[in-house]
Amino acid sequence: HSGFVAIVGRPNVGKSTFLNRVVGQKIAIMSDKAQTTRNKIQGVYTTKEAQIVFIDTPGIHKPKDKLGDFMMESALSALKEVDAVLFMVNATERRGAGDNFIIDQLKKVDQPIYLLINKIDEISPDDIMAIIDQYKSALKFKDVYPISALQGNNVPELIEALVKEL
Ligand code: GDP
Ligand code: MG
Repeated sequence: HSGFVAIVGRPNVGKSTFLNRVVGQKIAIMSDKAQTTRNKIQGVYTTKEAQIVFIDTPGIHKPKDKLGDFMMESALSALKEVDAVLFMVNATERRGAGDNFIIDQLKKVDQPIYLLINKIDEISPDDIMAIIDQYKSALKFKDVYPISALQGNNVPELIEALVKEL
């Protein structure tokens, strides 16, 4: 059970928070400011039976300039090398242009894609289905996990599923 898993999602959805929780160390730089983590930073989840290398891909967003183009290209090429992709969205916001841009990029990805609805600690459980409905027809998802990267809800279940997949 080992492999590479990329996390994609627009700025501030909680990618770094998730990574830091899962790998148990401060690896990715956390910030409220968009795009603080410019490089793909890897964290490794290791147990007796599994090793998952996580790749944070903050570069996947609509490029604004040449540097953005370059980051976008490198982030997309990183996606080709992974075994699974986690697409993280924010449960407290509606699906927007930033999400749609990423969805278009993910249409080119053949590996299993998991939809992570993050920040469920901030919404009512009754609203989770409505958020899933906004995304479920956009891409073919292997599975959907409503999670809280901050509080940990459903994160062990997701990791267990990834370990089985790899
Ligand atoms: P990134 O840009 O996708 O890497 O997002 P960050 O991990 O830097 O998180 C952006 C902000 O969202 C920070 O203030 C986090 O504390 C907050 N955040 C991340 N995950 C959660 C969550 O599950 N629940 C709540 N309430 N806040 C979260
Ligand atoms: Mg980050």
